[in-house]
Amino acid sequence: MNCFEAAEYEIIPTETYKILRNCSGCGSKTVCRSTNKVRVNANGKQIDVWLIYQCTKCKHTYNLPIRSHINKNRLNKAEYEALLRNDQEIVYQYGLDRVLFQKNDAEILEEPAYVLRDTGEDTEGDAIRFRNPYHLRIRYDKLIAECLKISRSEAKRVLENGVLSVEQPSDNEVIFQY
Ligand SMILES: [Zn+2]
Repeated sequence: MNCFEAAEYEIIPTETYKILRNCSGCGSKTVCRSTNKVRVNANGKQIDVWLIYQCTKCKHTYNLPIRSHINKNRLNKAEYEALLRNDQEIVYQYGLDRVLFQKNDAEILEEPAYVLRDTGEDTEGDAIRFRNPYHLRIRYDKLIAECLKISRSEAKRVLENGVLSVEQPSDNEVIFQY
């Protein structure tokens, strides 16, 4: 059943990670969501940068350190300016950086919501390609179900019986061949 069409999609997150933490405002373990705002503090040559989270229950804020005591000269100028103007691309890069959350003992609640955008690019060969620039962890059967508009169980079957097979998965791209 080769009813597939070559296509390329980009996985675009529509939110950044929510985290679970003990909120000092309401005194319980709650979900904090990113305000998608950064705070930059410059003390002489030393720069600190935080991503600001807010408790969904009591609105108490929590500053997640993303750059600590970094010498201004070591910070790329374009990045510094992007941080100062709260550039959303950089906010998303940090807000979806798993390593950053691990470093700060912040527990990630779940994978963020996303949309699939058909890039309209021609893919080489018989393949459905997903570009994943923010390294989201999405189950293959979920991706296939969404792009082919079939059920999760049908998608699982298609993958299990090799009608579609995964080639060269990496954290920023996955390609299914048919
Ligand atoms: Zn709270």
